[in-house]
Amino acid sequence: MKDTIIRKVSVRELDAELFTPFTISTGSHRSMENAVFTLEAAGGVKGFGEAAIATHITGETREATMKSLRRAGELLRGADVSNYLAALCRLEGELDGNRAALAAAQMAVLDLATRLQGVSLWRFFGARTPSLKTDITVVIGGAKAAGAFTRKMRARGFKIFKIKTGVDMDEDFRRLEAVKKAAAGCAVYLDANCAYSAGEAEKFIKGLARRGIRPEVVEQPVKKDDIDGLAWLTRRLPMPVCADESAYSLDDVYRLISRRAVSAVNIKLTKLGFLRAREVWALARAKGIKLMMGEMLESELASAAAAHFAGGLGGFDFIDLDTPFFIKDSGMKGASFLSRDGVYSLDRVKAGIGVAPGAAR
Ligand SMILES: [Mg+2]
Repeated sequence: MKDTIIRKVSVRELDAELFTPFTISTGSHRSMENAVFTLEAAGGVKGFGEAAIATHITGETREATMKSLRRAGELLRGADVSNYLAALCRLEGELDGNRAALAAAQMAVLDLATRLQGVSLWRFFGARTPSLKTDITVVIGGAKAAGAFTRKMRARGFKIFKIKTGVDMDEDFRRLEAVKKAAAGCAVYLDANCAYSAGEAEKFIKGLARRGIRPEVVEQPVKKDDIDGLAWLTRRLPMPVCADESAYSLDDVYRLISRRAVSAVNIKLTKLGFLRAREVWALARAKGIKLMMGEMLESELASAAAAHFAGGLGGFDFIDLDTPFFIKDSGMKGASFLSRDGVYSLDRVKAGIGVAPGAAR
């Protein structure tokens, strides 16, 4: 049998505790409950993918995702991974209703194909930016907690703080002031995860300006279907307005751009899969739209895959791939190219994503 034929497939749960609950305006992760998808080629080389399950954001459950991954396994068993583009297209056709599974299955195909070729996923995508430094997220909570977390992460070397907002505006003002005090001179991004009306969002930004705080980007201030609200804010605010929940497909992004509704888009593999993510990247680049690379709650495996994608293609303005720093022990091995202060040194990876699950726990 040819060494590149997929011989074995496995699906398993990936569970880990968090240092602190990952809370946003629409809900909270108290632990990580993801899935790992493994492909093994006839020659013994393995490729890995991770499905990030964020039920409070996408509605996808782990049960359904595991089922979709088993289906992906049936599709891929016996296929020749050197024909990876056909495999990616087939998965996109079959798993469109479960994007977490789609991303994981495509990730495993690409990890395996690039390991077999002896190139990193970063090189495969174009080797444009050799290292990326992520922001760090300040989750919803009290002002005191926001200040203490920011102080700790600033001391560790983080310089960009992405503040989740949208539950209580007065508390959010206090939180932002605490962050500003703890990380003087550092950049701030905002992410409201759909919490405001357009008017409220403008009021919030103006309130921040009075406090001497100007975020570099405002992500998903309004409901995902409120395209008029996004367009209104894009016209009125001095900083880029970035779509995340509103940008769940290539069609979504096309519509947002043609209506001049946003000036930035957050690409997540878990929303789009790899093929469509690349299409969104190309469309945004052609239209002068800024790009953020984001993720759901993901271990080093999926986070590194996203970093390879963004660093390989290049042209990303905002990097938001920090969730490994919230996870106590994912069991992933090989991620030493991700430093404690959030730098992905992609040019150090020899083959594939460069991260693999340790022995099943
Ligand atoms: Mg977001």
